[in-house]
Amino acid sequence: MRSGGIRQAKAQRIVVIGAGIGGLTAAALLAHRGYSVLVLDQAIVPGGCASTFKRKGFTFDVGATQVAGLEPGGIHHRIFSELGIEPPAATPCDPACAVYLPHETAPIQVWRDPQQWQAERQRQFPGSEPFWQLLADLFRYSWAFQSRDPVLPPRDLWDLAQLVQAVRPDTLLTLPHTFTTVGQMLRAYGLTDRRLKTFLDLQLKLYSQVDADETALLYAATALGVSQEPQGLYHLQGSMQALSDCLVQALERDGGKLLMRHTVQRILTENNRVTAIEICNQKTGDVWVEPADHVIANVTVQNLVQLLGDAVPTGYRRRVDKLPTASGAFVIYLGVKQDAIPANCPPHLQFLYDYDGPIGENNSLFVSVSHPGDGRAPEGYATVIASSFTHPTIWWNGEAASDSYQSLKQHYTDTAIQRLGQFFHLTPDTIVHVEAATPRTFAHYTGRDQGIVGGIGQRISTFGPFGFANRTPINHLWLVGDSTHPGEGTAGVSYSALTVVRQIEAES
Ligand SMILES: Cc1cc2nc3c(=O)[nH]c(=O)nc-3n(C[C@H](O)[C@H](O)[C@H](O)COP(=O)(O)OP(=O)(O)OC[C@H]3O[C@@H](n4cnc5c(N)ncnc54)[C@H](O)[C@@H]3O)c2cc1C
Repeated sequence: MRSGGIRQAKAQRIVVIGAGIGGLTAAALLAHRGYSVLVLDQAIVPGGCASTFKRKGFTFDVGATQVAGLEPGGIHHRIFSELGIEPPAATPCDPACAVYLPHETAPIQVWRDPQQWQAERQRQFPGSEPFWQLLADLFRYSWAFQSRDPVLPPRDLWDLAQLVQAVRPDTLLTLPHTFTTVGQMLRAYGLTDRRLKTFLDLQLKLYSQVDADETALLYAATALGVSQEPQGLYHLQGSMQALSDCLVQALERDGGKLLMRHTVQRILTENNRVTAIEICNQKTGDVWVEPADHVIANVTVQNLVQLLGDAVPTGYRRRVDKLPTASGAFVIYLGVKQDAIPANCPPHLQFLYDYDGPIGENNSLFVSVSHPGDGRAPEGYATVIASSFTHPTIWWNGEAASDSYQSLKQHYTDTAIQRLGQFFHLTPDTIVHVEAATPRTFAHYTGRDQGIVGGIGQRISTFGPFGFANRTPINHLWLVGDSTHPGEGTAGVSYSALTVVRQIEAES
């Protein structure tokens, strides 16, 4: 803690596994609060799914391209304020997204201004306003509740006290909707419009991994509500790497240490308490055991179970084993001439190509486009990044058969370029660089089990009160990141990190 402006060193040694936004945020806050912090990451650059890579003068955001929580009072803003550093420069996305339904030439535009968005949705989905008003009310109550830093799900009395202090009378108004999905609420309002349902399926799949029929209504209210002022989505100047750069800068300024290309192989425990981790330096091959008072695992819950090996309690392992298979992502990164981009192109677009089949199984694309001067492309050029959901197992079946993997990857690449060509002016002349990532790529670069992305899905059975806690069953072992409340996204994992920091402080 700061005392008279001088940080008092705390004897406790914290080791963080993973320099994703969740791990870095926890590490930077703990270093700032006086702990001795060591962060290890198996990758070459920090940031995990929110990092970048460079090719031929282009800078590509690996996964995350838009950021919530940068407005005053938003979670990133709060954390940068505590750390005493300037948040990265960013511009608001307006519209947050332009959504194209099959065979339609004009998009549904998710405007940043609440009135403009209300007018748009009333025009696009006549008769649905009572449903949207309910979402707006639930968003208001849930947002205020989350801003009071509840611990969800609570695992001990301290957690419970944090949860209870965050509750206000209006929080109770959300309770009757705890077990409701978006699909059920649409039916309750008698809304059967296929366009509305499809729009919601598309947007929710981005934020919750599952469609409207499965997404918990309370989660959906928050996910859909953050696009409007006074919140909003932002496009970072430079690249997404700016976020991790700021956190690393704060961490190192406050005496924390970050070691890249260091893989944590095992978490060691004794009498149900974490004692150390086993680390391998990828460059030298050296393996050693690093003792720790607390270990923060910024990994998926599936990876956590693997790192614990036999030390994982049976019930926990069983729960993880029973999770529905999470999604993977296929991402195509294009460096193009600016001529390929239509005039006034919004920064984020979403396309659905046909109404058949479940949303997301390679029939939709979420597209992020750089704009001149945003630092991602040389003058006269732009980046186009398009992602679709994909079942991870199809990329691992017949793991040894690299031919079939390469041909599947080529097929997805060709399909994506052909589809993007319906909107962008893509020709051999305008495309300067093409590269693609599959679940195998994500597994390699982010260490995520099977290359799954985006957390455990926000179904009723796994969201908020029913999800995986930051406090694991092993004492002093903490889980941070998009497997925990409030879910995926750089803003979500920052809340997760803040919770763990508070929990560790409460135990120290
Ligand atoms: C295609 C795609 C698009 C997305 N779009 C957005 C978006 O626009 N906006 C948004 O907010 N979010 C988006 N997301 C989600 C967001 O990127 C993630 O939810 C978030 O970045 C996850 O952060 P994290 O800290 O939980 O973990 P990760 O980013 O997964 O970081 C974990 C880190 O741990 C390291 N690691 C793992 N295992 C080990 C080990 N054993 N030893 C050492 N290091 C290890 C990895 O190398 C990695 O750096 C997107 C994700 C994807 C994949």
